[in-house]
Amino acid sequence: MSGDATRILVLNCGSSSVKYRLYAGRDAVAGGTVERIGESGGGPANHEMALREVLAGLDLTGLTAVGHRVVHGGTLFAAPVLVDDAVVAAIQDLIPLAPLHNPANLAGIEVARQLLPDVPQVAVFDTAFHRTIPEAGATYAIDLAVAERFGIRRYGFHGTSHAYVSRRTAALLDRPYEEINTISLHLGNGASACAVAGGRSVATSMGMSPLEGLVMGTRSGDLDPTIIFHLRREGGFAVDDIDDLLNYRSGLVGMTGDNDMRAVLRRRAEGEAAASLAFDVYSRRIKGYVGAYYALLGRVDAITFTAGIGEKSPEIRAASLAGLERLGIAVDPQRNAGSGDRVISPPEAEIAVCVVATDEELEIVEETVAVLEHRQLPAGTTQPVPEPERPKALS
Ligand code: AMP
Repeated sequence: MSGDATRILVLNCGSSSVKYRLYAGRDAVAGGTVERIGESGGGPANHEMALREVLAGLDLTGLTAVGHRVVHGGTLFAAPVLVDDAVVAAIQDLIPLAPLHNPANLAGIEVARQLLPDVPQVAVFDTAFHRTIPEAGATYAIDLAVAERFGIRRYGFHGTSHAYVSRRTAALLDRPYEEINTISLHLGNGASACAVAGGRSVATSMGMSPLEGLVMGTRSGDLDPTIIFHLRREGGFAVDDIDDLLNYRSGLVGMTGDNDMRAVLRRRAEGEAAASLAFDVYSRRIKGYVGAYYALLGRVDAITFTAGIGEKSPEIRAASLAGLERLGIAVDPQRNAGSGDRVISPPEAEIAVCVVATDEELEIVEETVAVLEHRQLPAGTTQPVPEPERPKALS
């Protein structure tokens, strides 16, 4: 199969939306979003109706495969897979770990299988790239029997983005992917950091769920679990209310009322204290992870910013790395103010600081094609690399 002749439909089914993009080779030839699924007021009644609408509007002649984004692959999937009944059952079994996401992803898979029965369907997991994280990085320090029983461990998310971005970073620097260590900072509405050693994820900030780690648009990121007990015992909050508070009413929106970094930046520029504090909390958290991952990796070749905020906010990039010159990390103001995929550190800097536009859909296309070609690849890479070997510094 030649990569250029493939026609791949990428589906990203959320709880109330379907995002789709059709690719001819590496070119997106059609795409869009259907929103308000299942909501009163005009949207399609369910995922089947939404997907029927999407498929009817596309020229699917010669469709090679459908690539589905699936949020949670648990410990079961370390790479993308061709969907069959057993895979569907496994994704179903993982619903308790991703109660919001996996049912919607599954609905997309089931409807696509039904409507396109002769087309191979491939599931690409957000968690798969992180299956190379060593046990010491994936284990929470709690009773291991309890952890085992309830599937409590670090799974990590945004894997397709971190894989794509770290590989693009190697290309940008003209270095072999297997030889460089990168800290990838995905700063979108959701946000996560990932330490990538020689093409393998060895640490990431999102944990059992996407709640842990960096400050996000509406999620708190790291906090002391006692806060939850305290709200429950002293505040009388129900568990679902705390879940809602931490996932949807925290982060930037919790601190400022705005979940959009552009608004926070504008209000900060106008001198508003809450926006200024939110900016500081946000960038300080990133800096802490950069330092931690520097220590874990032992040697860092590149730090790469990606996703909405990472790609578009020079202020956040500069503040997150300010004062790290002793670590060989610096941002050149002029390069930082530019645009496009580029290096933004000064030419003499020891560590390359980069900006790379992420493209999770294209990564899904490439992984889907790799599955169809029976290339046995670790998740997130399209270059054949040997069996996972844990970096010495982390074992
Ligand atoms: P994503 O999830 O990658 O689409 O990123 C979305 C977020 O990027 C938005 O919520 C904004 O906060 C942020 N964003 C988009 N454009 C800009 C910009 N020009 N400056 C700062 N943040 C931006």
